[in-house]
Order: sequence, then structure tokens, then C-alpha cells
Amino acid sequence: MMSNRTYYQEEIETLSKSRLQSLQLERLKAIVERAYTQNSFYRQLYDEAGVKPSAIRELADIQKLPFLEKKTVREAYPYGMALKRPGSEGGALQVHATSGTTGKSVPVFATKKDIQYWADLNARELWMTGFRPGDILMNCYGYGLPTGGFGFHYGAMAMDVMTIPMGSDARQYDRMLGFIIDFGVTGFCMTPSVAIKAYDEFGMTELLGPGMTCECETRDGMHAWADAFLVECINPETGEWVEEGQDGELVWTWLSADGTAMIRYRSRDLSRLWWEERCACGRTHPKIGAIKGRSDDAVSIRGLIVFPSQVEAALVKFPETGANFRLIVDKRNGLDTFDLKVEVKDSAILGDEERAQRVAREMAESVKTVTGNSPKVELVPADSLPRATGGESKTASARVEDRRKK
Ligand SMILES: [Zn+2]
Repeated sequence: MMSNRTYYQEEIETLSKSRLQSLQLERLKAIVERAYTQNSFYRQLYDEAGVKPSAIRELADIQKLPFLEKKTVREAYPYGMALKRPGSEGGALQVHATSGTTGKSVPVFATKKDIQYWADLNARELWMTGFRPGDILMNCYGYGLPTGGFGFHYGAMAMDVMTIPMGSDARQYDRMLGFIIDFGVTGFCMTPSVAIKAYDEFGMTELLGPGMTCECETRDGMHAWADAFLVECINPETGEWVEEGQDGELVWTWLSADGTAMIRYRSRDLSRLWWEERCACGRTHPKIGAIKGRSDDAVSIRGLIVFPSQVEAALVKFPETGANFRLIVDKRNGLDTFDLKVEVKDSAILGDEERAQRVAREMAESVKTVTGNSPKVELVPADSLPRATGGESKTASARVEDRRKK
């Protein structure tokens, strides 16, 4: 394998945007047709929505198809989303599944064809981040039901990189350090909690990620492989497409899938989506931004999507900010109002009206910069706002009071 080339799969990675879109349309038609004719779950879903595969004539027609919600997909457990069951001709050979912490697992079935495609997608990403044949990779992702371990492993194998499958053994630091030195490890795959990551990458187990998106050397978003996935970015409340580059929820369709049908799967991840003709790295695939939060936590104010994590990011810059804040959204004379109560760290500031007003003004400005919406900020004493417990502490239910809802 030539290690001095720029891309792992040059032709597809640099294919013109219009040709990529033609390929997407061809694959979208094919997967919708297969799902409808081979899978009773999809047939029922599309019949209920009154839509037939023939309705897909251009890419935008994907909007005619109903979304898949995680709970619907979970109810289809175990084989509801499968296109090729194990044991059938060319059937599934490997299954992965989400953790199921909030209910049943969502399984994903991979055939040999899927695994080969998966290997290539991961090899593209490893190549993109600087790996070359002959390198030695230490893979610290778990080799289990989540997809991280196997995905990068197959990718490395496809491009002649030896992998040390550390997986969960990565916790044995002495042995790990010994291997790094003794085997001459030249690169790593690990989660950001284990180490500083050089390149950002995003994938979902439901669509056999990793191998869905990866950051290139321009470090301006992550390329989402358009030959394998069609990404949409929607307003989580209306379900409609947002303008290119605007914040919204990512919705994924797995175009190259063979064993599992995932068509318009709502990720609940908030991010951005844009598609340049060609990136500075030479690749032509669309890009998504870093995942900013969960759409369950988002609230639409004056037509713009706002989520508590954005507000939090804007507030933490102030040394005066305390432990908690609360967004209060209401409607007056047909217009949305946006009030923001912020607990202060030291209540002494509340006695200094001039300073308190200045800080509140600066906070409002800072929130406006990140959300596009200017709130009316009120500073309140520490521990005066209602507090959520456990896992709810960062969700909208704890931080947003939407009085527009009856
Ligand atoms: Zn690029």
C-alpha cells in the first residue's frame, strides 16, 4: 500500500459535491425501497404515513419520510430494524448495541459487506489523522457491545496498521506504558477522558459509528462521509430543516447499510451542518460542528434554538456566576419573552446595585452572542433557585421554565 498518498480512498473522498449528491440519491432510493419491501416495521411506518418509496425523486424528498425516534426503534427490539438476519444469505455476522441505560438496547446488525465498508470508513479517518501503513496503533476503545473498539480495529487492519487492542485493559497503566515503549506505538485511539485527543471524531453505535465523521487538518468541523450517510439538521420542535450552518438537531440516514435500516434517525444531538464544494484538505464531504448538547434540552425562543449548555458556557466566564441559573420563557402580546435568573457566588454583589446592573448587562450581552437572543438578566442570591437531582441537573427540565406550555 502506498503510504505517501494523501487520501486512503482518493476518488470517493474528493468526488465533486454534485456527484456525491447523485450517489446519495441513488442510495437513498435503494435503501428506502429495500426497507419498505423487506422489513415489516418500515412498511407499516410508511403506510401509516401514507408515503411510498416512489415518492423519493430528489434528496429533499427525504423530508416526506417520517422520523425514527429512539423509543420507536427500541420497541422494534430485537430484529425489527434488521434487513438481513443472521443465517440468511449474506446475513448479519456481528451485532453491536447501545448501552440501554434508559431502556432496551438498540441493536445494529452488520453483514460482511457492512464490516468491509466500516473498515474503509475508519481507515479513511485514521489516514486523515496521519496514520500510515506500518504505524502501530494502541486502541483504547472498548472491544464490546459499543462500536468503538472494533470500528477502529477493522480500519487499522484495512490499511496495514498493527493494532494493540488495549480496550478495557487500558486501565492497567504500567502495562500500557510498557507496551507503548516496547512495541513502539506511534498513535492512539482513545476517548477524551483518557487522554488529550488530537482529532475530533463522532459516531453513534446505532449506525455502526465510528467511521461516520472525523475532523481533518483544517480543524473546522468534522467531515461526514456522504457516500455512507445522509445528515440532516432540523429544528427539533418543528422537524423542519434549519438554514445551512444554523444550530439544530442532527438526523441520520445510513445510505450504505446492508444489515440494518436506519432511515431518518433522530439523534437528539445539537450541532450544525454545512457543505462546501471543497474543503482546504481537498475533501468534498459535508461537515458537522462539535456536538453542543441534547435537543431534548433545547427551547425555541423567538424562532431561534437556545439550550441551557450554551447559556452556561456564556455565564461561566463571569467570576460572579454561582452554581445555578434558570431560563424563564413566556409569551406577552404574541411575543416570546426571555428572562434569565442567575445565582451569584457571593451575595454581597446584590448590595452594590450599580455593579450588579453592570454584570447583568454584560451577562445578557454574552448570552446574546452565543444564542442570538438577548435575555433580561436578574441576579439572585446563591441557592435561591429550584434545584434538580442527579442526572436531571443538566437538562432543560431543571433549567428552563417554559410558561408558554399549558
Ligand atoms: Zn477537510
